This record gives sequence, C-alpha cells and structure tokens, in this order.
Amino acid sequence: MLPPDGHVHSEFSWDARRVGSMRATCARAVAIGLPSVAFTEHVDLTPFRAGFLAGSFGDLVDADGILHAPLPDFDAYAESLDRCRAEFPGLEVLSGREVGQPHLHVAELAALPPVDRVVGSLHCLWDEEASAYAEPWLLFEDRPAPDVFRDYLAEVCRMGPGDFDTFAHLDYPVRSWPGEFDPRDFEEELRTALRSLTDRCLEINTRLPLHPTILRWWAEEGGRRVTFGSDAHEARFVGTGFAQAGERASAAGFAPGRRPGDPWVRA
Ligand SMILES: [Zn+2]
Ligand SMILES: [Zn+2]
Repeated sequence: MLPPDGHVHSEFSWDARRVGSMRATCARAVAIGLPSVAFTEHVDLTPFRAGFLAGSFGDLVDADGILHAPLPDFDAYAESLDRCRAEFPGLEVLSGREVGQPHLHVAELAALPPVDRVVGSLHCLWDEEASAYAEPWLLFEDRPAPDVFRDYLAEVCRMGPGDFDTFAHLDYPVRSWPGEFDPRDFEEELRTALRSLTDRCLEINTRLPLHPTILRWWAEEGGRRVTFGSDAHEARFVGTGFAQAGERASAAGFAPGRRPGDPWVRA
C-alpha cells in the first residue's frame, strides 16, 4: 500500500485555479491505490516578490512586482470536499491548508475555519535590498545560494509560534539550486532546524524527493512522525514518487499509523 498523500492542491489554491481539480485528483488517487488525500490549499498571507510565478499569475502582481495571493473560497471548498467524499467512499479525503510563514500571521490564521491537516511552509524570505519578502531563489541573484539556505534554515527555527502540524519541503530553496546540492554541507544547520521541529511532523515532499540523509538526521534528532506530500497542483501528479518515499521512510524506521491518512510513526 502506498503512503497517504498529505499535501495536494486543487482549483481552490490560487496557483492551481486553472489546472487543479479536486474531483480528478480523487479519481486519480483511487486509480493508483492511494489510501488518503489531504487537500491542503494555499493560504499565503505574506505579499512577496515572485520570480517565474509572476509570469503565470500576472493578475495577482502589483506595479512593484509583489504578488498578493487570494485566499481559497472556503464555502465552495467545503462543498467540493463533501461531494468528493460521497463519490469516492473508499478514499479518505481530508481537509487542510498549507500556510506560508504561519509564525508571521498567528492571529489571522487562528480565525480561519478548522481543518484536518495544517501544513506549515516557508515560501519567502525578507529581502533587504528590495525591502520586501521574496522567493528564496530570487535572493540567489545577490548572494551565494548557501548563505540564503542558511538564512532559510535559521528562519525555520523561528517558526515556533506558528500553528501547524507538519513542516513542508524543508529543502524548498533547493528546488532552484545552482549545481549539485549536498546536505552534508549544511549538516549543523539542518540538524538544528530539524530539532526545532520535533514536536511536529516532517514532510517527505516528493516534488524534489527529500534527501535520505535528511530523513536519517530527522530520526537521529528525535523526530517521531513523517507525512508524505506530492505537492501536486494537477491530478496527474498526485502520489508521484510515493513507492520510493515509502521505502525510504520504512528504511529510516517509520511505519504507517492507525488510520489511512495518519502520519507514519517511528517506534
Ligand atoms: Zn509549498
Ligand atoms: Zn504545496
């Protein structure tokens, strides 16, 4: 059995409005044998300077190049979840959200409707030059990528006040890494960031498969739970890479929880 997909987007996320489909994602999840899917739609309350995203979402970008992401339509989202649960009774369909920089928006996030899963992310960093938040790889233009990644990991350690159960894609800046990435170059900083998250779940994001060394450090630093996330924005990508991700989690000592969508736990 494949692991549950705990991080998927649909037409209710601002960056999947045109390509996402909750219904098609559920159908695809059933077809490939996923036990559970969590629709963690984007809640990005921090306006940020966007790179390639700005091209695709120009209607959301202001005159200064800052992207303002709209919130999901929570009512339509809830209705769609109900319809999918009725149509796909063999699939556990969980509600959720992916919150960018949850530690910066504690009060606003506390007022949102409750969901089954809250994935916390760090999608942007403060850019002194531009006096704005920016996608991490935009900062590579002015500073060496390793320095930016160290800043990113330091910011992860400041996310304690944020209300989220799972930390997503710890290697987010590596998605646009110049050259070969070796986690051992950042062992101390990665271990420190992992230690700051041990009360939460660490996500094995498969968009850029989480490096097995980081997973091993998670267990060594006291991490007890992992989740899996394809981060699919289109139905065809749900569960991508999950056979390998499940094998790697098993090898690191993690095993399925009680219910289909539960995090995997380490004995
Ligand atoms: Zn994300
Ligand atoms: Zn995502």
